[in-house]
Amino acid sequence: PVKVEILEVGEEGMLTEDLAYNLAVSEADILGYLYSKGVKPDTVHTLDKDMVKMICKEYDVEVIEIDPVRVEEMAKKKEMLDEEDLDMLENRPPVITIMGHVDHGKTTLLDYIRKSKVVASEAGGITQGIGAYKVLVPVDGKPQPCVFLDTPGHEAFGAMRARGARVTDITIIVVAVDDGVRPQTNEAIAHAKAAGVPIIIAINKIDKDGTNPERVMQELSSIGLMPEVWGGDIPMVQISALKGVNIDELLETVMLVAELQELKANPHRNAKGTVLEAGLDKTKGSTATLIVQNGTLKKGDVVVCGEAFGKVRAMFDDRGGRVDQAGPSIAVQVIGLSSVPIAGDEFEVLDSLDIARERANACAESLRVARISAKAGEGKVTLSSIA
Ligand code: GDP
Ligand code: MG
Repeated sequence: PVKVEILEVGEEGMLTEDLAYNLAVSEADILGYLYSKGVKPDTVHTLDKDMVKMICKEYDVEVIEIDPVRVEEMAKKKEMLDEEDLDMLENRPPVITIMGHVDHGKTTLLDYIRKSKVVASEAGGITQGIGAYKVLVPVDGKPQPCVFLDTPGHEAFGAMRARGARVTDITIIVVAVDDGVRPQTNEAIAHAKAAGVPIIIAINKIDKDGTNPERVMQELSSIGLMPEVWGGDIPMVQISALKGVNIDELLETVMLVAELQELKANPHRNAKGTVLEAGLDKTKGSTATLIVQNGTLKKGDVVVCGEAFGKVRAMFDDRGGRVDQAGPSIAVQVIGLSSVPIAGDEFEVLDSLDIARERANACAESLRVARISAKAGEGKVTLSSIA
């Protein structure tokens, strides 16, 4: 086993055995350390949360605490649903992130999916690389949309999660069969678990000679991801992203997992969602890729995201084409904002430019105050502590 860099732990603590595996040490090492500190774990060797933290500190491993209430809250927040939406809900496409260790085949997989699953009539446009791609997957013979995010996993989960945003419904974790579980695999698993996002494992590179997928499945089950085929609850699909083997099966699995989640939104209302990416374009000015999580975003809408606000002058889809609206789960690049927003910020459509300006200024002001107090050495000031 390889030592992890980040470990997630819930209220229930963790078995010594599991912790030892994750830290790549022996159980005896951990028990010895505990005895040296005068701590005696209970008879089945369950370590409580604080013990896990103490030991991880010793081994330079960061601990993410999973709080069941927070996971539930985030699941609700992800939907961005209000009371009024509840009787107007419609199905929305799942939003999927591909994560995994470097060189295990994330880019190859996304490229293959994009190239093979774009409908003929939509193909041909210039790919703008807005970081989100709509793909059609046949379910019972009918093409169903799903959206793949191309933001690096750490951004999607790190920065955004820090702000409480949750945009992903499903994570595909790619594990190269010839390399197995590596540190970033563990990190991806920890992030997905902490955010309460279902995991699908894609065991990649099965086209290579002499590989042993069962060994990888064994490795994964020993860190708590038991394959469905062995009676567990984690779907694992053996693929070759390079040769396009079993990609249909992987996408069908995605749709099955999505169906169980009953993903819904109310398309008949003002849009809100999250900023995926933002930047400055020589010709377009400030650009932002927004993913709509509830409602429908329309050209001409007034949007506020953090300190930035403005009227949406134009919207572009993942093929660079102009579009007039974007419904739930769809990402579009918009132009017309006063400044460049921050990835992970929430956006919202408001009724007038005046309201939007007011909101943006209020946000700018509280950020300014926060910066000044931070500089004045008053310690850590967060937005919520001064709001
Ligand atoms: P990423 O870092 O996870 O995005 O990995 P890449 O998609 O860039 O792939 C890393 C390397 O693995 C490249 O040389 C790919 O051609 C290769 N690769 C990816 N998928 C497969 C596969 O299914 N089979 C084989 N043999 N090579 C693959
Ligand atoms: Mg890559």
